[in-house]
Amino acid sequence: MKRSEVDKSKLSPMMLKYLEIKEKYNDTIIFYRLGDFYEMFFEDAILCSRELELTLTGRNAGLDERVPMCGIPHHAYLSYLEKLVDKGYKVAICEQLTDPKTSKGIVERDVIQVVTKGTVIDDTLSEKDFNYIGNIYDFDYCYGISYTDITTGYFYVLLLEYDKEKVIKEINNRNIKEIIVNDKIDREIISVLKENYHILVTVSDSIYSGSDYEYIVSDLQDIRMSTTIMHLLNYILETKKGDMSHLQKAEIVDLHKYLLFDSHTKRNLELTETLRQKERTYSLLWLLDKTKTAMGSRFLKYSIENPLTSSIEINRRYDIVETLLTEFILKNDLQNLLDEIYDLERLSGRISYGNLNARDLLQLKKSLKVLPDIKKLLEEIKFYRSIDTFEELYDLLEVSINEDAPFSIREGGIIKDGYDNELDELRKIRSGSRDFILQIEQEERARTGIKNLKLGYNKVFGYYIEISKGNIPLVKDEFNYERKQTLANCERFITPELKEKENIILGAEEKIIELEYRIFMNIREKVKTYITDIQKTSKTIALVDMLVSFATVSEENNYIRPSLSSDKKIEIKEARHPVVEKVIKSEFVPNDIIMNNGVDILLITGPNMAGKSTYMRTLAIIIIMAQIGSFVPAKSCNISIFDKIFTRIGASDDLVSGDSTFMVEMKEANNAISEATENSLILFDELGRGTATYDGMSLAQSILEYVHDKIKAKTLFSTHYHELTALSGDLKRLRNVHVSAIEEEGKITFLHKVKMGAVDKSYGIHVASLAKLPKEVINRANEILEFYETKNKKKNGFKQIELPLEPEEHKCSNDILIERLNKINPLEITPIQAINILYELKQISDKK
Ligand code: ADP
Repeated sequence: MKRSEVDKSKLSPMMLKYLEIKEKYNDTIIFYRLGDFYEMFFEDAILCSRELELTLTGRNAGLDERVPMCGIPHHAYLSYLEKLVDKGYKVAICEQLTDPKTSKGIVERDVIQVVTKGTVIDDTLSEKDFNYIGNIYDFDYCYGISYTDITTGYFYVLLLEYDKEKVIKEINNRNIKEIIVNDKIDREIISVLKENYHILVTVSDSIYSGSDYEYIVSDLQDIRMSTTIMHLLNYILETKKGDMSHLQKAEIVDLHKYLLFDSHTKRNLELTETLRQKERTYSLLWLLDKTKTAMGSRFLKYSIENPLTSSIEINRRYDIVETLLTEFILKNDLQNLLDEIYDLERLSGRISYGNLNARDLLQLKKSLKVLPDIKKLLEEIKFYRSIDTFEELYDLLEVSINEDAPFSIREGGIIKDGYDNELDELRKIRSGSRDFILQIEQEERARTGIKNLKLGYNKVFGYYIEISKGNIPLVKDEFNYERKQTLANCERFITPELKEKENIILGAEEKIIELEYRIFMNIREKVKTYITDIQKTSKTIALVDMLVSFATVSEENNYIRPSLSSDKKIEIKEARHPVVEKVIKSEFVPNDIIMNNGVDILLITGPNMAGKSTYMRTLAIIIIMAQIGSFVPAKSCNISIFDKIFTRIGASDDLVSGDSTFMVEMKEANNAISEATENSLILFDELGRGTATYDGMSLAQSILEYVHDKIKAKTLFSTHYHELTALSGDLKRLRNVHVSAIEEEGKITFLHKVKMGAVDKSYGIHVASLAKLPKEVINRANEILEFYETKNKKKNGFKQIELPLEPEEHKCSNDILIERLNKINPLEITPIQAINILYELKQISDKK
């Protein structure tokens, strides 16, 4: 039965209310609280029963048919909620606002919050990562983008030119999980974000117009930025429905302040996760992360994704790392202190919004306790920023919050004795009466002469007197005992005196719990006033933590301080790839990367598996490390600051967009040559190999010429086409280098050593034999190769510059053979197929 088909006049009031709420939250699953359960109805029930594997039942709601329903116990709702949110659904939690026991008529219910991908606030979020929600505001001629992590309150804003692809890329690069757009936005943007990148998109035109959050935009001059932020804020406030005053002042994303690269490059260089497994382990982030705090770890990730471009800022960081490397006792002390600090940023979030409990405040207190010592150490190492120490706040928490406070704030036991007079009084009454009750036990024993008379307490009867079966005959009328319960071996009684004391105790207990809750909320309000300052200090702590981590990693792995210049050269001696050198079993072979004296392009040749792409990645990673303020794996490193990095490395079929490998390759090449400047780095790994040989070679050459003449970006270009090495004759800023290998008795050994000049051999067949292609195929390929080598020699080499663009039918059989060979996956063919292929290869070669 569908919701839309329901005859409302017949519905029960509870279900009518449900429909009213559901209409307001049409695109959202409603968790509707009924007693101890959250129930879902109609289409929501069918969907949830499928997604959460729940039993679909029905509920009588006054209609002829039962309404589809499924439910989850309220105390275990979180894991179900997470599953749905993770799958991209929005979930509204609809609570009972009045107590069913005391309220007359229908219980009041309303949505207290909506949980979505971008607005989750709970402990299940990885503390090592941000969770961004953002928006795109279409202004007809430009886009506004803002985004925030609502657990920590970081808020960013930027304006972008009116370009659909760019806006999509920006959202994707920034790893935003949920997006709000205004209605006029191009539907194509919405569908790409949804379909290709699985981002949750909501269309809404509403803009927050209140004044409570004006401080967020108070530093912004541009009204478009403020509008963009207020558009996002409206959605956040509507879903979170609480105090969000921990949201920080918005920061303008100034693209010039950062070294830019897109998500392809981030993936290709395995900066924050590995390419294949998509895991943090073996990424650059994994290697560099020896941070002690959650803030430090998140800031490190942010820094790797946003390296700096200001040499002053970067050098400041180097100075600190250098000091820490010499002052290793200070470094260790600092590390131990940082280890004591909890996630101050997320705690701040919970203080203003969310389920703050006493243990959170204890964590805050413990974190504050070490700040004065950290401050001193920072002064000693001449750190360029200072932190607050919050002594007053520490004292407040120290005198108020009980060390062993329970998890819940509704059970009492939170506030220390001596903090609040009224509370102390109530506690006195309570314990006085408790003592009195113990006294009653003694008195009753004496009065009745029943030696084993006991006093007990349970929730149903309160305090009672328990007398064993054998002694029951001793109970006399004049005792005034009222029988309450008979058990197998005893009976339980109450007396008026006992009840009177019990009332005092329970009354005090109730008052104490209520009062403690109020005091706690009061303390929370006081703590709130410190949030902005705590956030400021957290930022500095995060930075310090990251730099201490850099020092630790540098020390462990023997990194050195880079020197930054502005003369557009690269001189790195004995560079190593920091992750590969950690992971491989053999010794890593260091290589020089030298691009000085006007050299902009290195053309790298060498057999497959020799280490060409590792060499290229090494350069990019060293640049990124250098620009986040880390030391680098080399013997010496002199580089200039880069503004952008572009990569075309590896065969990454862009499954998301459905483009072919070659199409992706060309798009990325286009992106690089249209966006790069002379301060950029471009890495092209075997560009052009995705198409026929001559096509590929011609494209490679023309792109190289274009980069050489027009862009002048520093470029590493690895290639299979040895013919391209002749280009160094014409392109003055291009140098040939090659990765060497030795061939002995038909076997190849990779030396991974990069040397000047070009190689004249590809060793492709050797690699094919390493891949265990059938011997016959290898032998025949060697024969063919020999034939071509002699033929080419006779032709007096390949004249590179007048590269002939042969039509497909004139392709030389060598190419066809190679293409055919490339298509073979030796692991998938049978011996018979192998023979047939050989036969086919032979026919091709006979045709020429
Ligand atoms: P190519 O791009 O030339 O095909 P790769 O760069 O992918 O080769 O390197 C192949 C393998 O060789 C790498 O996985 C790595 O284990 C090893 N390797 C590469 N460079 C080095 C080096 N400098 N020292 C030691 N091993 C290396």
